[in-house]
Amino acid sequence: MRKRLLCILLAALLCALTGCKKTPEPVEFSTFAMDTLMSVTVYGKGEKETQRVQDRLATKIRRLDSLLSVINEDSDVNRINQAGGAPVEVEDHTAQLLAAALELCEATNGALDITAYPAVKAWGFTGEKYRVPSPVELEELAGKIDYTAVELGLESHSVPAGPDGEPDWTDPVKRDTVTLPAGMELDLGAVAKGYTGDQLAELARGNGISSALLNLGQSTIVAVGSKPNGSPWRVGVRDPAGEGYFAVVELEDMAMGTSGGYQRFFEEDGITYWHILDPETAAPARSGLSSVTVVAPSALTCDGLSTALFVMGLERGAQFWRDHPELEFEAILVTEDGEIYCTAGLTDRFSLAEGYKDREVTVLE
Ligand code: AMP
Ligand code: MG
Repeated sequence: MRKRLLCILLAALLCALTGCKKTPEPVEFSTFAMDTLMSVTVYGKGEKETQRVQDRLATKIRRLDSLLSVINEDSDVNRINQAGGAPVEVEDHTAQLLAAALELCEATNGALDITAYPAVKAWGFTGEKYRVPSPVELEELAGKIDYTAVELGLESHSVPAGPDGEPDWTDPVKRDTVTLPAGMELDLGAVAKGYTGDQLAELARGNGISSALLNLGQSTIVAVGSKPNGSPWRVGVRDPAGEGYFAVVELEDMAMGTSGGYQRFFEEDGITYWHILDPETAAPARSGLSSVTVVAPSALTCDGLSTALFVMGLERGAQFWRDHPELEFEAILVTEDGEIYCTAGLTDRFSLAEGYKDREVTVLE
């Protein structure tokens, strides 16, 4: 009896000394949105509390999907595309994303262009009725891609937040407007998941979550804090030429986005055509790269720049990285020949995966 008491006392003492922290149980959920399967893992204080955060995250995903998806008839993006040149009132989220995305379009000199939708449609990348447009058609389509024609009328307003953190529009306030010339169409497919990732991370942090992994369809991942045991999240980078992961990146309060020709493509007459288009030609970007992964604090930056760097190619992409330290990003670029390049600021968080250890990695300085 005495022995048992002693044991309990010892255990209690040990607990007090070590903090006796039990690893919290994760709450996980998956949902289909933005044309992809998103999965979220959240570690919280208790199951009930964590479940509440999960519900809020799920609501936010549904809300952003309904505003930003080009396929959804009532979305802001679709209303802009159907307006025939008239100004369209949009929600705060849409205006915020458009403002940030247009900045990235400008910084990348149009390698990212959010008005590529007519070309995306013509190739059949929406609806999966794939076809190869003729050279004449492509020239016409390229003429319709021009992000500088998007007019964003931002109103200076402050809308009070409702209980769910969303703006409460019950008070009449002037909304932001977007005007797009008739015949042009927006496609936020290259940036919407990134914006959503940032919004979810902010919501999770605002709800006291310090450990979560938000996976917005493999291509965009946001790490909130670190793993519950304090070590960084370890996220695989897909081999663009295979099924596995060729590298692992350690992330802590950091986002990662990958764009690759393997993610959506079709083949015709032995030629592969993928979904990332060069806005100059309205045809799949053939820059010699097969995937680009960007790591940055902002998931929107990761999403937008991974697409843009894929269009730019290795030389231009590397120079863009050197010229834009203010965007705070690092990158991993893989060529169609399988060469791997990694920017200098990422080397201490990057390692080759099992089975790829003998591959050479060139560090970009
Ligand atoms: P991501 O998967 O983020 O690289 O984005 C690719 C998606 O964005 C495509 O499926 C198209 O809907 C659209 N897109 C393709 N090329 C471009 C481009 N150069 N700039 C902006 N959006 C693009
Ligand atoms: Mg992108």
